[in-house]
Amino acid sequence: MPTDSWRESIDAARDRRCDMFPLAMETPERTSYMSFTTPYLEVPNVIMGRIEAPFIERLSDMGDRPVGVVDGYAFAELLKQRYPSLQLVPVGSEQEGLRQLQNGKLAGYITTLATASYYMQSLGLADLKVIGRVPADWSLAIATRNDEPILHNIMQRLVSSLTREERENLESTWRNLRIEERVDYTRFWQILIAGLVITALLVYWNRKLGRLNRELAEANEALSRLSVTDNLTQLGNRSYFDREFPRSFQWCQRHKTGFAVAMVDADHFKKINDTWGHEAGDQCLQALADVMREHFRRETDRLSRFGGEEFIIFTSYEDASDIMDRLERFRTAVANRQCDTCQGSPIELTVSIGLAYGVPEPTGSPAEYLRQADQALYAAKGNGRNRLEARQTGRKT
Ligand code: GH3
Ligand code: MG
Ligand code: MG
Repeated sequence: MPTDSWRESIDAARDRRCDMFPLAMETPERTSYMSFTTPYLEVPNVIMGRIEAPFIERLSDMGDRPVGVVDGYAFAELLKQRYPSLQLVPVGSEQEGLRQLQNGKLAGYITTLATASYYMQSLGLADLKVIGRVPADWSLAIATRNDEPILHNIMQRLVSSLTREERENLESTWRNLRIEERVDYTRFWQILIAGLVITALLVYWNRKLGRLNRELAEANEALSRLSVTDNLTQLGNRSYFDREFPRSFQWCQRHKTGFAVAMVDADHFKKINDTWGHEAGDQCLQALADVMREHFRRETDRLSRFGGEEFIIFTSYEDASDIMDRLERFRTAVANRQCDTCQGSPIELTVSIGLAYGVPEPTGSPAEYLRQADQALYAAKGNGRNRLEARQTGRKT
């Protein structure tokens, strides 16, 4: 018996114009005029959407957007109860519902997977897809008019006689559409891009910070170098001497090796200043420092400007004659090098050297070496200047 809509079919059944539905779901209202066999087909209930719509996890994700369902369907009753906020829009038929979904009047459309499958294939609805699952499935049975118990018994017997295989065949024919759980990738890309931007910023800041840290470290290094460097001669300054002198002494004491302290003082320097001027005197001191650097470049050699025109060389040695030879060579080099800084006229410069040397005693002190070197220097000055005087202070090597 052809009808135009499901609603019409239901009405026809109620009016006893229609005797039987091969597939219908039992509802309390329908049992007043129909009998139902035990369900013989379970069909998943789905919500359809347009192809671009994101997949939804719950029906409530639809918010207040219109969702269609065929008027009179058993599920319309049920959904209205369960999801009161859902904007259910009754439609006349499956085709009508799907058309309204296509042209945007509906945002979603609730139907069975079987129906969806059938219409999508027969009507070629490529722009629709299943966007979610409705968490209650259709249990379909054969419905017969309830004033015909014999008809009902026949149908019930038929349903009961279905083998497992027959049921499975039925289900697979009706369930040949897969729900594709497609993730909404827009959010994924948004997060990915945001992540990339943040990472790029972090990398940028990290690099900038690294560069600043390097510059800071370099500046600090330069500063600490400057803080122990004499401005005029670029030798170690007094701070450098105060820090390194005890260290060097202790190292020699521990390793039982020779420690040598040479006090170097420019001779008659006052006269150089008086004759050639303070600036020429400065240049002489720089030249003196250059000669000193040339002669004392071993790893353990330490050079410092102690103050004014007075310098201290301290170092370790193996052989006392070696350190004395080196100091003598240095002294002669200074005397031979004429500091020709002043308008072509060479300035004669000599140095007197007082040396204290020896392997430090366990009870010895660096101050003792300094005192002995000072005395030796005093002797060198007294003995005519431009000479080396030595005092053995510690043990022999
Ligand atoms: P001596 O042979 O006894 O050491 O005689 P001297 O003139 O070198 O001794 P003194 O200690 O009396 O004089 C040191 C002079 O060195 C005094 C000072 O003007 C000069 N002087 C000290 N520091 C500097 C400096 O940085 N630059 C210059 N140009 N002169 C300096
Ligand atoms: Mg002097
Ligand atoms: Mg002096």
